[in-house]
Amino acid sequence: MARTPKNEVCSFCGRPAEEVGFLIHSPLPGGFVGICPECVEQAMNICHLQRGHQHFSSQQLEDIEVPTPREIKEHLDRYVIGQDDAKKHLAVAVYNHYKRIFRNQQDDDGVEIEKSNIIMVGPTGTGKTLLARSIAKLLKVPFTIVDATVFTEAGYVGEDVESILSRLLQEADFDLESTQRGIVFIDEIDKIARKGDNPSITRDVSGEGVQQSMLKLLEGSIVNVPPKGGRKHPEQDFVHVDTRNILFICGGAFDGIEKKIAQRLNTHTVGYNSVQNVRRLDPNNLLKYVEPSDLKSFGLIPELIGRLPVLTYLNPLDKTALRNILTEPKNAIVKQYAHLFELDGKTLKFEDDALDYIVEKAESYRLGARGLRSIVETIMTDAMFEAPSSADTTFVVTKEYAHQQLEKHQSGNA
Ligand code: ADP
Repeated sequence: MARTPKNEVCSFCGRPAEEVGFLIHSPLPGGFVGICPECVEQAMNICHLQRGHQHFSSQQLEDIEVPTPREIKEHLDRYVIGQDDAKKHLAVAVYNHYKRIFRNQQDDDGVEIEKSNIIMVGPTGTGKTLLARSIAKLLKVPFTIVDATVFTEAGYVGEDVESILSRLLQEADFDLESTQRGIVFIDEIDKIARKGDNPSITRDVSGEGVQQSMLKLLEGSIVNVPPKGGRKHPEQDFVHVDTRNILFICGGAFDGIEKKIAQRLNTHTVGYNSVQNVRRLDPNNLLKYVEPSDLKSFGLIPELIGRLPVLTYLNPLDKTALRNILTEPKNAIVKQYAHLFELDGKTLKFEDDALDYIVEKAESYRLGARGLRSIVETIMTDAMFEAPSSADTTFVVTKEYAHQQLEKHQSGNA
């Protein structure tokens, strides 16, 4: 880099040195040639993208260490309480997914293993996002969460589904290669269910239309993606993202799907053996019997369901699970607060019956584990405010203290 004389401009974007900060000069003799830092960054992105167009080399693939399903489950156990069924399904699906990438690149025996996208059905706050996030952390692949409700069919107000891939591309620092083996979690997939049984009455641009436009993403094809997302930059070049090896995990609460499951089970159980079958069902958790046909009755189109071959469910969280979530996971809520106190050289303790009280409250809020954090936050606000300037080295949260803080907050909000 050299000092930039006045009036010299970036040879790429044409902006003057005063505007861009400085210019990097070409050492070649002759007229002035220079580049500004922004153009350097853009050039780096382009290089990333260009390199990404090549397929993985086997060496690159060998560099990805794929844990066994058992190891994946053990990893998930560290972060997520319960939900064994979902964990097993996820572990196997992810393991097979990566086996598939290896095999398709390395052998050519004509057997193509199909993509194992996943759909998880479960009440809000029971760990769907946490499971997907924890898997991505383990595999060290780019991961993004998108909310299905923001999408509309192309051409309508809202986002095009391709922007899902723009976000993944951004998460991967525009490295196309790693984008193409990333994981996308599509939340609230139930909110794009078809409204009503007859799709032709009105245009359903945010329901069936979006489901249709998601198909090509999920099945594995080359999708034209605007790298910056949205429709605000029509001049941007498209990046061609191959979605064959991107794993899609969808999640949704599917409120009311139990009714559809019950209807199906009832019709199936008429006839011989019916009494035995009925007795074996767990009426408090019908979700565990969910089948693809229930998703169809709920309003997902069969083509979409077909592209989500792994279907699993999450259990509602009972008191024991909520209690464990407070204290057990690697970054459990109670551990986080204790750590905050530790940073000030103080000790924070929760008495057992204070924890039980928090669990009871959370259960009554019916927000799954989501309620736990907001309750603990409310209880701890005063203590967090006072502790750093107090001489006491230990702070104990008793049930009485927890109750008093919550009451104070509720009467304050009333
Ligand atoms: P959702 O099922 O709605 O996607 P999340 O995974 O976002 O729920 O859960 C919300 C929060 O609740 C998480 O950040 C996590 O702290 C906690 N949580 C929910 N379920 C569990 C669980 N099974 N184990 C541990 N923490 C959980």
